[in-house]
Amino acid sequence: MFAGQQNQFRKGADQERGFVSCEKCNSPIAVQRPNNVSIEFSVPCTKCGHRGIYFKRMLMAENPANRRR
Ligand SMILES: [Zn+2]
Repeated sequence: MFAGQQNQFRKGADQERGFVSCEKCNSPIAVQRPNNVSIEFSVPCTKCGHRGIYFKRMLMAENPANRRR
């Protein structure tokens, strides 16, 4: 019997952040817990301050290869 695994709330490498791109300046906005957001949500852009409405399906996974400027 292996009763050692008690409260393992972290299941593997679940996505903890998602990104949407600002509709105004196109910079990526981090969204915490993408699994928790509603279908439609609004987040303020950290860069220009514009608060846009985004949809859950617009969320992108965190992808370092995507950060080219
Ligand atoms: Zn912006």
